[in-house]
Amino acid sequence: MASLGIPQNTIEVLQKYNFNFQKKFGQNFLIDTSVLTRIIDAAEITKDDCVLEIGPGIGTMTQYLAESAREVVAVEIDKALIPILEDTLSAYDNVTVINEDILKVDINRLVQEKNAGKAIKVVANLPYYITTPIIMGLFESGVPLQSITIMVQKEVADRMQVGPGTKDYGALSLAVQYYAKPEIVANVPPNCFIPRPNVGSAVIRLTRHEKPPVEVKDEKHMFALIRASFNQRRKTLVNGLGNAGNLNVSKEKVAAVLEEMGKSPTVRGETFTLEDFALLSNLLLS
Ligand code: SAM
Repeated sequence: MASLGIPQNTIEVLQKYNFNFQKKFGQNFLIDTSVLTRIIDAAEITKDDCVLEIGPGIGTMTQYLAESAREVVAVEIDKALIPILEDTLSAYDNVTVINEDILKVDINRLVQEKNAGKAIKVVANLPYYITTPIIMGLFESGVPLQSITIMVQKEVADRMQVGPGTKDYGALSLAVQYYAKPEIVANVPPNCFIPRPNVGSAVIRLTRHEKPPVEVKDEKHMFALIRASFNQRRKTLVNGLGNAGNLNVSKEKVAAVLEEMGKSPTVRGETFTLEDFALLSNLLLS
C-alpha cells in the first residue's frame, strides 16, 4: 500500500470505502509526509519499541509506526474505520487494531500483555475534544511509559509548556510538568489535514520524568489545591482556597502558611511555580 501521507492516496481510500467523516470523533486525517516523518523522528521510535497509537484513522501514521517499531497497538473508536485499517495495514504483521474508546481501555493490562509491563511510547494525532482526559488518564493511571508524542491544538500545546506569569499558565501546565518534560516539536497548519481543522495544531513531546521534580506528601491534595487556585483565577489564594469546600482549610491557615513561605498575603495562584504548590500543600498538611 502506497503512503497515505500523500493526499491523493488518502482521497482514493476515502472514496473506495465511501467514508463519511464524523465530526463528533474529531476526525482530521494527516496528509503531509514531512509532518509524519517529524512525528516519528521526535518520538525516537526504534525496533525495540512497543507503541500505543490513539485514533489511527485510516492508518496513515500507523504505517510509519509499523515500519519503525517492533509492535504497534492502535485503538480506534469508529467501527467504520476497522475494515479500512484491515486493508491499509494488511502488509504489517506487527500491528493490532482494537475497536474501543481509549478512555475505556485498561492500558495497564494492554502494556502487560504486549510489552511484558515494560514502558511503552504513545504516539497520536489526538482527537482534540478529549486531549486533556487522555493525557491525564495516561499519567494518573501510572501506565509505564517513556514518552507521549502527540498532535494537539496549538493553544493546548502552549498551555502545557508555559510557566507562571503567562495567560496560558494553569492547572494543565502544572499537571503535565509534574509528570513530564514538555517540548513543542513542530507547528502544523490546517492545510496538512483533511478535512482542515478550524485551529492551528502543534506536535508536542512529553518525556516522562523518572521521578517527579518536587516531593509531595499527597499528590491528590496538591492537585486539588491547584485546581481550586485556577478555578478562581482572579481571587487571591487566601480567598480562593479558603472558599473551596472540598479542601477543608480556613483562610487563616492559608494566610499563616503563605507567611511561613515568605509570600505576600494577597498572592494569586497564577504566580505560583510547581515548587510553590508542592510546599504549600506539604505545609497545609503538616
Ligand atoms: N491518526 C489519524 C491521522 O493522523 O490521520 C487520525 C487522527 S484523527 C485527528 C483522530 C482519530 O481518533 C480519529 O480516527 C477518531 O475516530 C479517533 N477517536 C476519536 N475519539 C476516540 C476515542 N475516544 N478512542 C479512540 N479513538 C478515538
